[in-house]
Amino acid sequence: MATEMEEQLVSTLTAQAGPMPAQEVVRLAHQRFGRKIALSSSFGAEDMVLIDMLMKVDSKARIVTLDTGRLPQETYNVMDATREKYGAAVEVYFPQAEAIQLMVAERGLNLFYHSVENRKLCCGVRKMEPLRRALAGLDAWMTGLRREQSVTRTDVHKIEWDSSNQLVKVNPLADWTSGDVWKYIREHNVPYNALHDRGYPSIGCGPCTRAVQPGEHERAGRWWWEHPETKECGLHVVASTAPSTGGGE
Ligand code: SF4
Repeated sequence: MATEMEEQLVSTLTAQAGPMPAQEVVRLAHQRFGRKIALSSSFGAEDMVLIDMLMKVDSKARIVTLDTGRLPQETYNVMDATREKYGAAVEVYFPQAEAIQLMVAERGLNLFYHSVENRKLCCGVRKMEPLRRALAGLDAWMTGLRREQSVTRTDVHKIEWDSSNQLVKVNPLADWTSGDVWKYIREHNVPYNALHDRGYPSIGCGPCTRAVQPGEHERAGRWWWEHPETKECGLHVVASTAPSTGGGE
């Protein structure tokens, strides 16, 4: 539950951000929270747009990422390209080794293919726990979520209260289309993950992501063996709420 003061803050920011273009939402969030907001990036196309926007506001703004230990090499490549182009100090959070060892000893390295329960356990150990450490001490976090991405994201707003993490959540690209993302990347010469050119619109861990076929939904390649409504890793599930005054992503 948000306090009255937090609800008021979210309502105020929602009213301000509503008519703003994404770049201005990024600026607004940075002005309001400074180093108490971090962009959570997996270095997908949307995140690269936000990195470009954020670095133009403050080259020392905080960017956090989770290295699950199962990422494709192409993701590490674009991570390094980001450091080189922007001089960004990317903060990388790793899972706890003992938790990984225990999980693998009990259920195997490829446990995620065997059940939704196993997959959520793996995402919990490799993503959720490190994310909690990454967000500790912050007042807000920023993500590249877009409403258009999947059936699990149709309620995303530009400004939300994230009750799971007890933080304001800022999603400047909430109302962007995939076409908007790629137009920005090309116009601003933003580096991007090479897998996007090989049929991967959405990129996560290597064993849990495949290329999509023409006509398939853009997140069809994530956990492709599961039903569409289970396909979130837990980082962005239902815990977020928007204020009654309305808003964007
Ligand atoms: S996406 Fe796959 S490999 Fe990565 S944390 Fe989740 S289940 Fe594990």
